[in-house]
Amino acid sequence: VSRFESITMAPPDPILGVSEAFKADTHEMKLNLGVGAYRTEDLQPYVLNVVKKAENLMLESGENKEYLPIEGLVAFNKATAELLFGADNSVIQQQRVATVQGLSGTGSLRLAAALIERYFPGAKVLISSPTWGNHKNIFNDAKVPWSEYRYYDPKTVGLDFDGMISDIKAAPEGSFVLLHGCAHNPTGIDPTPEQWVKIADVIEEKNHIPFFDVAYQGFASGSLDEDASSVRLFASRGMELLVAQSYSKNLGLYAERIGAINVVCSSADAATRVKSQLKRLARPMYSNPPVHGARIVANVVGNPVLFNEWKEEMKMMAGRIKSVRQKLYDSICAKDKTGKDWSYILKQIGMFSFTGLNKAQSDNMTNKWHVYMTKDGRISLAGLSSAKCEYLADAIIDSFY
Ligand code: PMP
Repeated sequence: VSRFESITMAPPDPILGVSEAFKADTHEMKLNLGVGAYRTEDLQPYVLNVVKKAENLMLESGENKEYLPIEGLVAFNKATAELLFGADNSVIQQQRVATVQGLSGTGSLRLAAALIERYFPGAKVLISSPTWGNHKNIFNDAKVPWSEYRYYDPKTVGLDFDGMISDIKAAPEGSFVLLHGCAHNPTGIDPTPEQWVKIADVIEEKNHIPFFDVAYQGFASGSLDEDASSVRLFASRGMELLVAQSYSKNLGLYAERIGAINVVCSSADAATRVKSQLKRLARPMYSNPPVHGARIVANVVGNPVLFNEWKEEMKMMAGRIKSVRQKLYDSICAKDKTGKDWSYILKQIGMFSFTGLNKAQSDNMTNKWHVYMTKDGRISLAGLSSAKCEYLADAIIDSFY
């Protein structure tokens, strides 16, 4: 008998498990709207042209494979913080940001969680209900207590803004408030600029610490600056904050695991100390981060020609998602004769649409229509082609009623 007899089978991951089931399906109309990864109109994975160009430059310059420092590639850390805050932002000018390269968004969140666990014992992280499924895993494994604030209102398929504000207000002073910088996952519902101001007000009032998860900068609106405006608003008020970044989506570097954790402090001195502790936490976890993705980002952002090309490709990707969103909406409206208001689909932003389908209805999408999606009713529009919008509209209407 095995020494591992007491280890039971872990359940499949609710998001990545969807792709496994999709692979096993042989139906010709099958559609994978589970995982949030960009696909071309032919539903194929996409490698950005700027990434290929940056990789060619890297190959030509014959860079070595020496270890990076614990904090990551210095040129990447500078580029990523500037992209997030803007190079002329006072937090950068005054050297108040501790930036450490992380293992994409997930690893950066995990490092921040370790920092919270070590230096803010007992402090709670408030997460939106619902949120990206892995947030709970990350804080659970880091032994950081969390609770939820209201976010999604099923009645309107919109934001429960009053619920959100009152839950943030009711939390113990000095809690961390996890916010999605843009393109909220899974709902696609973001606060308006006016609502962001009120969220900042209540967080400041309660002495909470904002903790942004920015996994879609440039990918939501098509503009890097616009998608960073929530983070910049908080920074401009002089607040201390945490920001986890990912280049999985906006540069299509999913498998390179490239991202960063930024901690904005009220002084350069505090930032230096925080950075030293982030490095200390990283060292026994993974020692130092991978170099390839960091070099790609540094090369793309640091080269004005490539940087402009990236912006164009990002606009193209965001534009394709917006166009299938519109087409899906038009198809549903043309087919559905009940007069139901589907406009929430158009109001949502980013890669995802929260359809409002419940678990049984989502099961029908998969079992009858071969449309693979998470059971919370979320579909990834990045996995939808314009040719399949009509089919998806039929599936949604059939499942809804
Ligand atoms: N946060 C959110 C909200 C996400 O949607 C994602 C990607 N699905 C991530 C973080 C992190 O992804 P990655 O680790 O690939 O950067």
